[in-house]
Amino acid sequence: MSSIFTKIVKGEIPSYKIAENELFYAFLDINPLAKGHTLVIPKQEIDYILDVDEDLHAKLWNFAQKVGRAIETVVPCKRIGITVIGLEVPHTHIHLIPINSIYDMDFKKEKLALSAEEFQDLAKNISSAFKK
Ligand code: AMP
Repeated sequence: MSSIFTKIVKGEIPSYKIAENELFYAFLDINPLAKGHTLVIPKQEIDYILDVDEDLHAKLWNFAQKVGRAIETVVPCKRIGITVIGLEVPHTHIHLIPINSIYDMDFKKEKLALSAEEFQDLAKNISSAFKK
């Protein structure tokens, strides 16, 4: 069975898309720790990031770097915090999270409840920044 993220890539379930190319897809995390919290995934469904082959792995981080640069132009923050967890969804994904302190990376924290409009605005602005 396809992962939820494969369904997102195929457009079978909706997402707030940030960027896409032939290999990768970036979209807003639906339960964000911060405004602009983004997930970057390979389109190929590979559960564990350490199983991603070397070439694709390097390209994935390169794509994530560009997405991170776009996020930080839109969301004021000290840094983009970057982490990989993958315990919930078995499809490799990199979390990019605008942060001002280490506590902003605490996944036990209550998630933000953003409106559809807020998600749409963030996705639109980050997506435009990515294309520049
Ligand atoms: P983890 O696998 O532990 O890295 O967590 C999976 C992440 O995916 C969590 O931060 C979820 O909020 C996020 N997530 C799960 N389903 C969706 C979805 N349909 N759209 C966007 N983000 C999602």
